[in-house]
Amino acid sequence: MAADAFQQYLEKTRTLADLSAAVAVLGWDQETYMPDGAAQGRAEQISTLSALVHQMTVERGYGDLIRTLSDSSNGNGLEEWQKASLKESLRDLEMATKLPEEHVRECARATSLAQHSWKQARAEKNYALFADALAHLVELKRNEAGYLGYAENPYDALIDQFEPGMTVAQLTPVFTRLREGTRVLLERIAAAPNKPDDAVLFTDFDKEKQLAYSREMVAKLGFNFGIGRVDLSAHPFCTSFGMTDVRLTTRVFNDDLRSCLFGLIHEAGHGMYEQGVDPAYTRTPLASGTSMGIHESQSLFWENMIARSEPFWQWAFPGLQSTFPGPLGSLDASGFFRAINVVKPSFIRIESDELTYNLHIVIRFEIENALINGQITVADVPELWNSKMREYLGITPADDAEGCLQDVHWSFGGFGYFPSYTLGKLYAAMFYRQMKREIPDLEAQISSGQFANVLAWLREKIHRWGKSKRSATLVMEICNEPLSESAFLEYMTGKVERVYGLG
Ligand code: ZN
Repeated sequence: MAADAFQQYLEKTRTLADLSAAVAVLGWDQETYMPDGAAQGRAEQISTLSALVHQMTVERGYGDLIRTLSDSSNGNGLEEWQKASLKESLRDLEMATKLPEEHVRECARATSLAQHSWKQARAEKNYALFADALAHLVELKRNEAGYLGYAENPYDALIDQFEPGMTVAQLTPVFTRLREGTRVLLERIAAAPNKPDDAVLFTDFDKEKQLAYSREMVAKLGFNFGIGRVDLSAHPFCTSFGMTDVRLTTRVFNDDLRSCLFGLIHEAGHGMYEQGVDPAYTRTPLASGTSMGIHESQSLFWENMIARSEPFWQWAFPGLQSTFPGPLGSLDASGFFRAINVVKPSFIRIESDELTYNLHIVIRFEIENALINGQITVADVPELWNSKMREYLGITPADDAEGCLQDVHWSFGGFGYFPSYTLGKLYAAMFYRQMKREIPDLEAQISSGQFANVLAWLREKIHRWGKSKRSATLVMEICNEPLSESAFLEYMTGKVERVYGLG
């Protein structure tokens, strides 16, 4: 009986998965090959298919089936992954039904207006042009938190949409210690007598060669081109139409060697996660990464722990140098390692380094929390932003375009999203510390260009589980401890000491 009902449920999840994959294909095409003139038609196609997905998700028969199966899931012979799939479907259903249609419509209208006014405000460096739209979005998001429900803090309900189960109460002490540890490291860096020079990275690098080198590199790391591909787009991203079709994009600048290479390795980290999910989860709600934070941990792991490490460049530098003998001719592996790891407080989050990046996130987290809780108003944001920049990073933005207007997130209502980025860094460092314990000669393997064991470890511990385990469970099972900043600070201290000749 339960088996029949589960089969019926699976048929539905497959239809939903196929429709969602079709939406994703349309979205990928829009960012890569679609002619500009097709924008209006494409928006309609995506909106039609998305509405269909929504209708099917909230259809009463389907909801009843999920609830009945979930209620009886203890003792009805369902396997663990099947129960996890039901749990995920139930969550999707609740997310889709808790929000009144009127609210969803108003959010769509408000974000469309807000994106317009944000662009204008940023271009004119005039926060006032965005303030009213932002105030309206904050109000809508506070209402949304109410609809979704929360135990302690309305901001929790928003964070939960990206990192299920994560709360302000868990994040605050971790972020506070991270901020303090970062400050200590920044002081040591400021006092270092021997600073690395990264000017060589911004000379002239042939774009075709960069792209070819980067593709070859991600293949060596383990990205499977038999079930994935790489194209160009204005902003790099990874999207998946199921685990056998994972698309990455990158961009290439001739005067910045970092962008294409590290950008593609980053996206390949996301992509390998998607490629590595247990095939048994195909076309179910489990067939993807478990949270934004864990997803980001996989991209950052390959980008930073592997590809920005010294052992990695001991192996890879000769190949890079022979690809670009002109600009890199007089450099060596350790000089290159130092150049790609310069730490310097800067205004723009997406251009910042591995260490100071988190301070940008902490500022956004603190401001979002205060806004959603009504402790500050939208009018307080620019001043508060600048004073936090001064306090944490020691620099003051010249205007709001390089301050609180720099990110697109608020304009699309993405409150609660920012913490995922730093969670990714913290998780990645925790996994790396654990991997080193379990693979004692890890650095030797990396410095001889062997990544099979690294990928196998990530597959076994993280990838194959897809969405069947929540991030807190994964972290606890893998590392035997809950989320903390300590592994990241330990890892960063080691790196900073090498790069700045300290310690
Ligand atoms: Zn990412």
